[in-house]
Amino acid sequence: AKSAGGNRFELADPEADARAITRHGLTTALPTALERGEFFIEYQPLVHLGDGSVRGAEALVRWLHPQHGVLGPDRFIPLAEHTGLIVPLGRWVLEQSVRQAREWRELHGGAEAMGPLRINVNLSPCQLTHPGLVQDTVDILERTGIEPDALCLEVTESALIGADDDLLKPLRRLAEMGVDIALDDFGTGYSNLANLRRLPVSILKLDRSFTQSMQQFPADPVDLKIVEGIVSLAHSLDLAVTVEGVETGAQAEQLRILGCDTAQGWYYARPGPPERLHELALVDATG
Ligand code: C2E
Ligand code: CA
Ligand code: CA
Ligand code: CA
Repeated sequence: AKSAGGNRFELADPEADARAITRHGLTTALPTALERGEFFIEYQPLVHLGDGSVRGAEALVRWLHPQHGVLGPDRFIPLAEHTGLIVPLGRWVLEQSVRQAREWRELHGGAEAMGPLRINVNLSPCQLTHPGLVQDTVDILERTGIEPDALCLEVTESALIGADDDLLKPLRRLAEMGVDIALDDFGTGYSNLANLRRLPVSILKLDRSFTQSMQQFPADPVDLKIVEGIVSLAHSLDLAVTVEGVETGAQAEQLRILGCDTAQGWYYARPGPPERLHELALVDATG
């Protein structure tokens, strides 16, 4: 529990103490964790809402901590951002994911009609301001032999709110090369929709909160109107719409009817090892 009274109460709160100790412990363990290869990536399929085919996957990093077991990104990404380790960690995630995409492509000869599986990688705001971003990305793509248009970088809406040209420049360069930029968690920030035109994004990822509002069938008419409005605006700006957090068939169906293009969520598959993604895509390609 958070205390209103400052340090005095916090010290008296053993739970808060334990959390602070863990936080500190995790922070100091982060750099060695990267060296020791304790991070791994799970992949969650991105599914075409029209025909149900697997089109790609989002890379989601995890930490297999020797004492605490598997830790989710919410536990350590903020710490890595705080210490700057997010830059090498993010670079590692990008390289691993792009290599994985290449491996899928080699295994996945049968699905040429749909194009290669695409790979989505999250970018933290700290990586955006890091001067090496464009060059690192170019190097990784070249080393791996993957075309830029098989890669999508996801940036949260909040990271780009009020972004000036300096911040947008690297994203523009990547977009010009053919890398897709997705606006993640869209609808949770305060950006005005007109602002979208200024951003070098080609995909909107509608936040899970919208998907949750589609739990009932039929959903609340006002929620339906809002999503419908976002989708039609997005499409008029030539942006594709991906929905996240789809947990039920009813949600998938309503979002499909509303015109969303791609979906992601437990209804299709939880994040999992790369072999799993390959199996799903293969089943899909061979029917
Ligand atoms: P995100 O980018 O919004 O990723 C989607 C999150 O929703 C993931 O949580 C995913 O496991 C979860 N999810 C997927 N489908 C469902 C569903 O149907 N229902 C529900 N309730 N949840 C679902 P996860 O893996 O814990 O990741 C949390 C956040 O950590 C991500 O949110 C992203 O912001 C961040 N993250 C993950 N990997 C990386 C990374 O490599 N770099 C950076 N900078 N951030 C990362
Ligand atoms: Ca994401
Ligand atoms: Ca998201
Ligand atoms: Ca989210």
